[in-house]
Amino acid sequence: MDQLIEFFSRLTDTSDWPPRWYCGRWTDFHGWLYIASDLMIWLAYMVIPLVLIRYLFVKKGVPLPGVFWLFGAFILLCGLTHLIDVVIFWIPIYRISALIRFLTGIVSIATVVALFRYFDEAVGLRTSKEYEHELLFRQQAVMELTRSNEELQQFAYVASHDLQSPLKTISNYLNLLNMKYGSQLPADAHKLVETSTNAAERMRVLINDLLDFSRVGNEVAFTPVDLNQLVAEILEEQQAEIRASDATIDVGPLPTMMAHYTDFKQVFQNLISNGLKYRRSTVAPHIQIRAIDEVNQFCFSITDNGIGIERQYFERVFQIFQRLHGRNEFSGTGIGLATCKKVVDIYGGHIWIESTVGVGTTFYFTIPKVIKTIHHYAQTDTLYSVS
Ligand code: ADP
Repeated sequence: MDQLIEFFSRLTDTSDWPPRWYCGRWTDFHGWLYIASDLMIWLAYMVIPLVLIRYLFVKKGVPLPGVFWLFGAFILLCGLTHLIDVVIFWIPIYRISALIRFLTGIVSIATVVALFRYFDEAVGLRTSKEYEHELLFRQQAVMELTRSNEELQQFAYVASHDLQSPLKTISNYLNLLNMKYGSQLPADAHKLVETSTNAAERMRVLINDLLDFSRVGNEVAFTPVDLNQLVAEILEEQQAEIRASDATIDVGPLPTMMAHYTDFKQVFQNLISNGLKYRRSTVAPHIQIRAIDEVNQFCFSITDNGIGIERQYFERVFQIFQRLHGRNEFSGTGIGLATCKKVVDIYGGHIWIESTVGVGTTFYFTIPKVIKTIHHYAQTDTLYSVS
């Protein structure tokens, strides 16, 4: 303990040793060779950490940055021991030298431990060649996916578009049949015509919903969309349903966003009409529409006081054609929420549900303030930027 106290109290005291020049017999050549070599090593050891630090600052997000810092400190301290060896030729700072060597020892061991600890992780890191390979593979996969997606979209569009015309003919002829021969038809034939007309109408709604679903995300150019105006337009269109059900709709201030009008309309229209449709028979529907500014995104909520949804179906209802109720209970195609999810996904947001059966449901969805769809990424020069 006494030695320790003495060591630190006389840390800079050089009186116990002669300078190295006078310790033993040095020729000028031998001494200066020693000094010049140590100075070269020190200089190199100073530059290496500086390069490492610059690398860490320029290339943000480098994996295992802690190991880089440790390695930099280790090399810097090693360099310092060489500089002290030079100084000792004139000033015998042997205590400081011992202290720096001790620190170098500790940092060296910490570096070794870190290297062993992160070895597996480092082995798992991909080299730029491996990244290049993976990028190529992903580009191929994306191209394949885009192609099959375009084909599917085209198919859905053409199929639903072309189906509209024969369906219109069926509906028109059923109406004609009813008008011309309705009075002569027996009651059971009437029933058959009515069932066929209803089925044709259901098919018309299904085809329209499918068309809407296939159109989502097709447009590239964005325009400013005033959501207050958009919701007002939807409420105007649903006036009949609102009046018939004695519903009240409470709309908070909504933002204006750069987006596609039709995409946003699909989302709000589906969620509002579901709020009106899935109402409880005992209470008039009350729907609240809100938007919260969350710095980088808006969080929208549409709350109803309807029948509610059981927790186990919170994910399932967003899948296409998934319905929780029979046609006789509530009409529908099971496409509405899938369309909402498709829009929100394409815009880089999230959609989720909170609900209590018999109390009501809230649909939440977030939309980033700066929306970037795949079209925007495709327009930029590089997918991955260094800075
Ligand atoms: P659709 O309404 O045409 O059946 P959706 O995709 O809009 O299709 O909804 C899927 C299912 O989710 C509905 O069949 C219904 O069971 C349930 N659902 C949707 N919205 C609500 C809501 N607000 N309250 C209760 N259930 C809902």
